[in-house]
Amino acid sequence: MAQKKNNYTQEKRAAKKAAKAIKKSKHPILITIAIILVIAIAVGLYWYFFVYKKKQPDPIQTGDLSITFFELGNKYVGDCTLIKVGNTEVLIDAGSKQNSADTLVPEIKKLCTDGKLEYVIATHAHEDHIGAFYSTSSRPGIFESFECGTIIDFPLTRKEYSASSVYGRYVDSRKAEVEAGAVHYTALQCWNETDGAKRSYQLSDDITLNILYQKYYEEYDSSKSAENNYSVCAMVTQGTYNYLFTGDLEKEGEESLVEKNSLPHCKLFKGGHHGSSTSSTDKLLSVIQPETICICTCAGTPEYAKTNPAAFPTQECINRMAVYTDQIFVTSLATGVDWETCKWDGIVSMNGIITVVSDGVKFSVTGSNNSTILKETEWFKENRTWPSNGK
Ligand SMILES: [Zn+2]
Repeated sequence: MAQKKNNYTQEKRAAKKAAKAIKKSKHPILITIAIILVIAIAVGLYWYFFVYKKKQPDPIQTGDLSITFFELGNKYVGDCTLIKVGNTEVLIDAGSKQNSADTLVPEIKKLCTDGKLEYVIATHAHEDHIGAFYSTSSRPGIFESFECGTIIDFPLTRKEYSASSVYGRYVDSRKAEVEAGAVHYTALQCWNETDGAKRSYQLSDDITLNILYQKYYEEYDSSKSAENNYSVCAMVTQGTYNYLFTGDLEKEGEESLVEKNSLPHCKLFKGGHHGSSTSSTDKLLSVIQPETICICTCAGTPEYAKTNPAAFPTQECINRMAVYTDQIFVTSLATGVDWETCKWDGIVSMNGIITVVSDGVKFSVTGSNNSTILKETEWFKENRTWPSNGK
């Protein structure tokens, strides 16, 4: 830029010199044309660097892709995933409770060093996915702690709005974020590309974030798994690698997802609904044939189960996943579980924070605690069995 400024000053001097020369010259027309040309070039350069260039957005930085599945700072199941491509981040969900913000905000800040989350997706209205977005008087949530670009969330919910409910607080804090400059779309607006929303967002030259369609974006679910089936579904594509995120989508939603999209094979699938028996159905798995599955859960927790086999990740779910891959990773492990009372003390890391890194060819999965695949863990050997038709 300094070089251009020098050029500009030099051109001005040249123009003055030329003006003096014109008086003495025997060819005033030629000199006049030369002066006009010099001035035109100077004006052109000024417009290019100080008007046109300033209007152009910064180029998206190309870089490797990383996907981080966080632990949530308490003993409850939930989701929080950060996808990072250069300086562009996509945050999917912020669970499990409001106090998870104490753990999540500093962890996300380590990765999102410019303080801006370009995209935020809230999959559905359950606390274990939106609890840490809003702030309390003593604890800032994700929205307050980061500048957000585009917020994409669920078109439908059966939750009643009330200012004190988790859902109400989420909505109020999302609105505050929009007043501060964020843009908000529902997944249906994205799919229909209305009001400026898009189905596909470019994260870098060769990496895209794609919002997928499923019928519960516009159809109420009467089953008891309502809310889960309203989950926003997204796929990140990096060359031939695909990474699928379906929130807590259940069987019926997965069926619709398969019918309404031509889903490719997936390098990675975030295990559906924390490893529940009602998600990650064969209808979906047989199409995406996942090579790696990361499950955000506390293995063996009684939080949503009355018996050990029903605890996440369930035997049923493992049986279905095992047909396609043994590369299954789990964030946390419940401790001090008492099935008589369905109580538990807390959690420890299983794999811990799981980080997936890929350049589109090389692909790695690393746990902050260890990188042991599920079937090789002590918990699995004591509580689950690997099916005979498994990988
Ligand atoms: Zn959930």
